[in-house]
Amino acid sequence: MSSKQASFLDSVHRNFDKAADLMDHPSGLISQIKACNSIYEMNFPVKIGNKYEVIKAFRVQHSQHRLPTKGGIRFSSYVNKDEVQALAALMTFKCAIVDVPFGGAKGGVAISPRAYNAEALEKITRRYTMELIRKNFIGPSVDVPAPDYGTGSREMAWIVDTYTTFKNGSEIDAVGCVTGKPVHLNGIQGRTEATGRGVYYGLREVLLDEPEMKRIGLEPGMEGKTIVVQGLGNVGSYAGSICQNEGGAIIVGVSEIEGTIVNPKGIDMDKLIKYRKAKKTIIGFPGSKKIATREDWVKIDCDVLIPAALESQIHKGNAKSIKAKVIAEAANGPVTADAEKILLKKGVVIIPDMYINAGGVTVSYFEWLKNLSHMRFGRMDKRFNQNAYGNLVDLIERNTGKAVTKRDKSIIVRGADEIDLVRSGLEETMITAFHQIRDIYRRRKKVEDYRTAAFISAIDKVASDYTTMGVFP
Ligand code: NAD
Repeated sequence: MSSKQASFLDSVHRNFDKAADLMDHPSGLISQIKACNSIYEMNFPVKIGNKYEVIKAFRVQHSQHRLPTKGGIRFSSYVNKDEVQALAALMTFKCAIVDVPFGGAKGGVAISPRAYNAEALEKITRRYTMELIRKNFIGPSVDVPAPDYGTGSREMAWIVDTYTTFKNGSEIDAVGCVTGKPVHLNGIQGRTEATGRGVYYGLREVLLDEPEMKRIGLEPGMEGKTIVVQGLGNVGSYAGSICQNEGGAIIVGVSEIEGTIVNPKGIDMDKLIKYRKAKKTIIGFPGSKKIATREDWVKIDCDVLIPAALESQIHKGNAKSIKAKVIAEAANGPVTADAEKILLKKGVVIIPDMYINAGGVTVSYFEWLKNLSHMRFGRMDKRFNQNAYGNLVDLIERNTGKAVTKRDKSIIVRGADEIDLVRSGLEETMITAFHQIRDIYRRRKKVEDYRTAAFISAIDKVASDYTTMGVFP
């Protein structure tokens, strides 16, 4: 990205201002909602091999209008203060959009995880957690991190272990200090897939919207839509495979760090994920062709682009060459404000990050609730429901004199497990939030895109919290 282009934080601010200018909240309130409340920048030494390395890291709490604050931890050599601030701000708006009662936060450690072995990464993660504990930047009622780019359940396990060891039994809800933990360590079923699954539910809703599909010349529905995915990490791999397996979409291109592959007939996502695990590359995947320039993934002929890697991937330098009619921002900030202007002029539908990738924080919320209640979802009501449905089927059989088949009975007479409840709660959340955004988009004449509508939805909710608290009149 050239220096002339808007930075990630500039883009977030420009998008915020565009929405705020259409609203009539007092300017002081708007400034408070936009401002970043607390920034903790730290440098700490870690002994790696025979040497000490000084690691730069951040935790930013953008807004404490609701507590705890919430946001992932990113491990990447690109991490810098502006980026973490932008990501923390997006978390505030994301939580508001999906009615998750948290403020926004984000953490970043400026390392390339590929450059370290597991032992070194564990040392860095534990030391970072200690820094957060020292400054009261972590805790189930204060600030709750989660995975993000470059981190996963393994890092969250190290964090919860460091935190609970430090608290030494003095905090009954200590395991709620972080989400995205392994399921056997107080995590929740369905968290790993949650962001990608949320992308699927959100994209499906948008593609089902008949007037909008008519406007861009697509048939409503996901079945048969062609999709290109950038980034085969946590978010991109689940988003791609669920859109393919449950939505009937065809993945015609995938871009990763090692290059971009295409196959107009479709790339089987599950096989590709296994292939990359084994071969450490997507290049050479049977039936696919590598394209000359990795960055040309944006030019591939398709209906939908799913950028799921990093911010600023679609910028004013490549926006004009995009053929897709829909962009689902699975990553945070993948489309710069300059690119967005070009794309909106072309009529492209951009489904904004702070809505479409909110599945992760939604299921993190469920995990946090599970940790506070000290009980898995479904434990109290699964058998009760099973018995009630069973009685109902018996009653119908008796009254009609007809027997329900064994197979049908096993489908009907089934209480929900944790994974069923998590998926159902996530689906409900993504659908409800989209309808709120779409209502604003349809009803307010000056709102011309989903991002502005999403910001209006979020700003209104945060503003309402501040006024209810009496902070602003
Ligand atoms: P990840 O580390 O699991 O995967 C990212 C993938 O992108 C990696 O495989 C990496 O090799 C690839 N990549 C990096 N640069 C690339 C490039 N230039 N071209 C092609 N591929 C590239 O990260 P993730 O957790 O999937 O996060 C991806 C994005 O989604 C980030 O923007 C993150 O903030 C956002 N996000 C993640 C979550 C979550 O729950 N993990 C939630 C919301 C948003």
